[in-house]
Amino acid sequence: MQKVSFFRSIHVKLVLIYLLLIIIALQIIGIYFSNKLEDSLKSNFEDSILQRIDLIQYSIREELMKERDETTPTLEQSLVIALREFATGDINEIRVIDNRNRVLATSDSENQSIIGQRSNDDIVKKVISSETYQEEIALDAETNTRVWVIATPILSMVGPNSEVIGAIYIESNIEKVYDQMDDINRIFAVGTAISLVITVVLGILIARTITRPIMDMRKQAQAMSRGNFSRKVRVYGNDEIGQLAIAFNHLTNRLQEAQSSTEAERRKLASVLANMTDGVIATDRKGKIILINDPALSLLNVTREETLNRPIASVLGIEENYSFEDLIHMKEPLNLNFSTEEAPFILRANFSVIQKETGFVNGLITVLHDITEQEKIEMERREFVANVSHELRTPLTTMRSYLEALADGAWRDENIAPHFLNVAQTETERMIRLVNDLLNLSKMDSRDYKLNKEVVEFNSFFHRIIDRFEMSKSQNVKFIRYIPETPYFVEIDTDKLTQVIDNIISNAIKYSPDGGNIRFGFTVQGNMLKVMISDDGMGIPKENLGKIFDRFYRVDKARSRAMGGTGLGLAIAKEMIKAHNGTIWAESEEGVGTTIFFTLPYEIDGAGDWE
Ligand code: ADP
Repeated sequence: MQKVSFFRSIHVKLVLIYLLLIIIALQIIGIYFSNKLEDSLKSNFEDSILQRIDLIQYSIREELMKERDETTPTLEQSLVIALREFATGDINEIRVIDNRNRVLATSDSENQSIIGQRSNDDIVKKVISSETYQEEIALDAETNTRVWVIATPILSMVGPNSEVIGAIYIESNIEKVYDQMDDINRIFAVGTAISLVITVVLGILIARTITRPIMDMRKQAQAMSRGNFSRKVRVYGNDEIGQLAIAFNHLTNRLQEAQSSTEAERRKLASVLANMTDGVIATDRKGKIILINDPALSLLNVTREETLNRPIASVLGIEENYSFEDLIHMKEPLNLNFSTEEAPFILRANFSVIQKETGFVNGLITVLHDITEQEKIEMERREFVANVSHELRTPLTTMRSYLEALADGAWRDENIAPHFLNVAQTETERMIRLVNDLLNLSKMDSRDYKLNKEVVEFNSFFHRIIDRFEMSKSQNVKFIRYIPETPYFVEIDTDKLTQVIDNIISNAIKYSPDGGNIRFGFTVQGNMLKVMISDDGMGIPKENLGKIFDRFYRVDKARSRAMGGTGLGLAIAKEMIKAHNGTIWAESEEGVGTTIFFTLPYEIDGAGDWE
């Protein structure tokens, strides 16, 4: 936050406001007071002079009108005595002038020379000519002070027929009044200065009581903007600012709560996003990625830096076919095929638009789900149905043609009819086998079966199966047994395991040449018996070795079918061995032979039970 300069601070502004108000108030009071005081002082002064003037006027008139002889003092002498009596206090000088404008007397002893001379004062002339009282403020040239000059006519008598017999000229020291005013003004100025100083000091102190909580709040707001909510504003009182501080603290608490709940929500959301298996991508309203979770990064095999702020269509690799606008209106999920030659990889993208009530699009959320496995299962299912249909159709078509031939009259031919019926029977048996195999598999898939397990001595169990094949064998193959003497016990479902071994042996016989050997044996590996059935047959190409346990997989389809195989024997064997907690696999070399191995857990103390 910007720092407030000293001269712009509220503190200084408040102090200046106080100062200005006080100055204005004092000025108004001062001007009014000094004007009034000046008027009052002046009028007091003038009143005191004017009161005396009547007396002077009277006694001068008496002197002027008096009859004189040699025994009485001269007019000048009498006037001097009279004037001396009056020229006291504020009166500087009193002059008496006759009606011919000649100075008869003056109270100023140092100015006696003007007696007998004509008076130059205009005011005196004006008084004699106009017969009226005159006054003015004049500057005394000698002392350079202001004097109040008044001149009043002396009339011969009171009444309408009176005439001017002279004039009185009085100079009074009004400067004294002005001096008094100056003193008062000076006192006032000093008082103003003192009160201003006190105002400044008080202003600073008072302003601080207002600005300090505000500064506190400012500091707290700054701390809050940095994410620090632990600070509290001090409440100095219960005034408006105190209330504001309380409200501010309350606001801080609410903000802190809101922030921590937002933070908790954010963390919750982040952990949900990070821990879900689906990928989530959010964009802004222009389609630029603003959020992408870790699963989405690993599904798309990209880094966060590579994707943030990039258009979603280009990150999903669909920018050539779809624009952001298309994705917004996409109602159906979109499958993104990232499969390579080595591995299939398909993602399903679901789009949902973040929209305001007004319909304004705020962004797009894309959820990515790995559907590779799902697609694989779906593909296998489709393949399986196609295989089953195919496997059933072949014997059915064969049967239909043979039955048609019989119906067309072949039944009458004793040579052909039995053969045709024999084919139909073989095909029917094959279908029954196929359907049984399928039922078996389906049971295993749905885990809708129970193993009837019993503890069996494996050596003799194995021998018995081989014996059965040896007795019924139609082909010239030699059976060689590498079965140990020591009895080993296994807990197995004998029916199911017989089925497994039957299938492996019949395959070995099927694919063995005339005069070939088939070897049987088992060894102990840890707590497992490792059973092996090996032949000198045609072998299986390396690339097909892993697939022979898949359903309907046959290396040579025509040959297998000709031999009555369904392609399900090893698939069933694999499921059954798995149900016995063992594994099954094949090793083979083309033209040399094939060995099928499987393992079974054996009972270490099984012999004890038998004994
Ligand atoms: P089938 O009914 O065709 O024998 P299986 O599931 O038993 O079906 O075997 C799958 C395929 O594995 C066979 O079609 C065959 O191509 C191959 N196979 C199985 N055993 C042998 C073997 N001993 N020698 C050569 N190929 C074999």
